[in-house]
Amino acid sequence: MAFDYDLFVIGGGSGGVRAARIAAGTHGAKVALAEEYRMGGTCVIRGCVPKKLMVYASEYSGLVSDAQSYGWDATVGAFDWYSFRGKLDAELDRLEKAYRSGLSGAGVTVFDCRAVLVDGHCVGLADGQVIRAKHILVATGGAPFVPAFPGSELAITSNEIFRLEALPNRVLIVGGGYIASEFACILNGMGCEVAQYYRGPQILRGFDDEARNHVADAMRVAGVDIQCNTDVARLEACADGIRAMAEDGSAGVFDKVLFATGRNPNSAGLGLEALGVELGRNGQIVVDGFSQTAVPSIFAVGDVTDRIALTPVAIREGHAFADTVFGGLRRKVDHSLFASAVFTQPEIGTIGLTEEAARDSEAIEVYAANFRPMRTAFAGRDDKALMKLIVSQKSRKVLGCHIVGPGAGEMIQLVAIAVTMGATKEQFDATIAVHPTMAEELVTMRSLVRQG
Ligand code: NDP
Repeated sequence: MAFDYDLFVIGGGSGGVRAARIAAGTHGAKVALAEEYRMGGTCVIRGCVPKKLMVYASEYSGLVSDAQSYGWDATVGAFDWYSFRGKLDAELDRLEKAYRSGLSGAGVTVFDCRAVLVDGHCVGLADGQVIRAKHILVATGGAPFVPAFPGSELAITSNEIFRLEALPNRVLIVGGGYIASEFACILNGMGCEVAQYYRGPQILRGFDDEARNHVADAMRVAGVDIQCNTDVARLEACADGIRAMAEDGSAGVFDKVLFATGRNPNSAGLGLEALGVELGRNGQIVVDGFSQTAVPSIFAVGDVTDRIALTPVAIREGHAFADTVFGGLRRKVDHSLFASAVFTQPEIGTIGLTEEAARDSEAIEVYAANFRPMRTAFAGRDDKALMKLIVSQKSRKVLGCHIVGPGAGEMIQLVAIAVTMGATKEQFDATIAVHPTMAEELVTMRSLVRQG
């Protein structure tokens, strides 16, 4: 069979773009990529990037009052969402162009349309063209999931939050994960009245208990009305907004209701099952360690495989796929250890095992520091930072590190190098501190807090 391309990538998000660029630009493959929405995918267009810019925007109200405490004659007026949104749109346009030029610079042909699989080597485009490719990579990402309940159509998701015409005065956020907790803080910082309903006993399930308690307490002090063990039973339009009825019978009226109740893989309607590609319970494409599906010519990376739904993981998977298939290198991605950050206010940075998970697997020691950072303490704030190391009693290796406080995302990236290398507590201790910083606490924790 004569092929039009060595590789056809479906999806122009982080994983697909990286795979296309490495396959074409580094390994010389003939590559095409189809994207039905905007180049850059969720991360760039309606995820990490606009979210982080909103985090920055939302932090200024607190920074201005800190500035006053440091002697500045500064005042903060109202937040102008419309002006911010215009700048945000322009920035996303710029990034989208950069993604496109990166692809064209690598020699990748781009089709701006939906593509579906026709057979193991053929892709059908929305305009009727059928393209033959030796390999096909599915990198279609995921989409927000809203559970079915009466009035669910009144809810918005993270897809819509960046495009709001106006900021809501009163907003209800449903969910207790990354997106719900981040947006609760962002919108609170921008001056909205925020309630967050979470069905479980504490938000941020899966993170270290002490860290999640610390964040939830700080969010409440900052004004977020977190209501745990609470779920929405029904939404109704009413004269002054949306009435949300909770399962316990309580009700509240809001201008917007944001559901951040998880994301599902975008695998429907691509023709995958008919070709024998195995899908999991949530519709995720089942792949092996080389991102290969049950059909040998079809591969998948990123959120559509529902391994670890994080941009840098998708990028790593796309890169490893391209190196393996076109570069003659057999590269697997190790999903066992990765750092991540939740951009709540305060942030969480985390790598490795939580105290709870570590204790279940071996005897551990816990070292922790809970302190008022110099910068905010001087400004008169009561904010506290938490730093925690979970150490194996047997190997002395640092099994987990959890940081809550300003800059936690930046700090954990660097701690991640040491933890990935298998550094021991004694090696952390042997590192000379950088003073005065918050991060120095990580190498000066002498006293054992708990063991078990
Ligand atoms: P998460 O999986 O983090 O959280 C989903 C939340 O919704 C959980 O609190 C879950 O509760 C709750 N939930 C699920 N189903 C229901 C339901 N039927 N009714 C009520 N509540 C429900 O998903 P997100 O949408 O927040 O984010 C998706 C993924 O995107 C994340 O897992 C993460 O991988 C990625 N992401 C990463 C970010 C970062 O790195 N900073 C930022 C944003 C997203 P329960 O805990 O009880 O299951």
